[in-house]
Amino acid sequence: MLTTQQVVSISKEHGFALVGVTDARKSKWSTEFQQWLAAEKHGEMQWLANNVDLRIDPTVFVPEATSIICVADRYASDVDEPLPPRHGKIARYARGGDYHKVMKKRLHKVCDVLRELDSESTFRACVDTAPLFEREFAAAAGLGAIGKNTLLIDQSVGSWLMLGAIVTTARLEATSHNVAVDPCGSCTRCIDACPTNAISPWSVNASACISYLTIEHRSEIDPKYHKAMDEWIFGCDICQEVCPHNQQTEKTIASEVHSDYASRVSSLDLLDVLNWTEEDRREAFQGSALKRAKLGMMKRNAAIVAKNYLANTDDEALRNKITSWKS
Ligand code: SF4
Ligand code: SF4
Repeated sequence: MLTTQQVVSISKEHGFALVGVTDARKSKWSTEFQQWLAAEKHGEMQWLANNVDLRIDPTVFVPEATSIICVADRYASDVDEPLPPRHGKIARYARGGDYHKVMKKRLHKVCDVLRELDSESTFRACVDTAPLFEREFAAAAGLGAIGKNTLLIDQSVGSWLMLGAIVTTARLEATSHNVAVDPCGSCTRCIDACPTNAISPWSVNASACISYLTIEHRSEIDPKYHKAMDEWIFGCDICQEVCPHNQQTEKTIASEVHSDYASRVSSLDLLDVLNWTEEDRREAFQGSALKRAKLGMMKRNAAIVAKNYLANTDDEALRNKITSWKS
């Protein structure tokens, strides 16, 4: 019979930094999730409102599922690279290989090994796009605790974590760890630092979040958010950067970022992006999670960040481009 210990060691052999197991049961937050949807805090992310039953109950995703194997990769470190002049910043998770691909590839390999050991059970991998509340299950499996910024925090290595899961019909013993339920206490740093006031404790209004606005939102961005976007051309890391759990410690220095996420590009030249063709975009985003943003969205983001940049610095070529932009 397959054991949790085998699952943990096989997953670690495949490079996952954190591994745990929890029972496959309905989400505890299904009511809150439906209220969040009803308040339209998901913005244009209609896919979040689709198949709610599937999303809140893993046994709808995999019939007769009994366990969820939760894994996490550490995708970034606490220290950031300096931003060159005239560049827009990219959120850390999108600077290396596309997490959908690199994590899924390793999860599929883990599933293959597990199937060899237990051919009677079903193993189904999911990364982000699959309908599963990965954070909730990862917390239940002892990988960390959810902070006020709604992210999973491991109190020794922080929240730069990419989550994945395998839903299975194999009956595995749940892992138990001594994880504090509340990693935040009286801290409100992420709430205070969020430039769009998108965070209230344990809830993020996605429709006001720069990550959503720059990556998921397809139409024009409300001008009230332009200044707040500051230098972020793709995503935003502020609520993680300020978190005390993400400040550099001996443990975080010793905990390596998985090589799949080694940073290839941390920023983009704003003038280049404004001049891009579709082919340029495709070439620049090959193998990267950045490709989620279409050409028009990248140019829209670049134009807003360029205006913010030009408010403090002069750059003739960029100014000329922006002056003629959509005029
Ligand atoms: S990613 Fe940025 S905009 Fe979004 S909640 Fe965090 S700090 Fe606010
Ligand atoms: S910044 Fe503070 S309040 Fe926000 S998630 Fe981190 S510990 Fe919690």
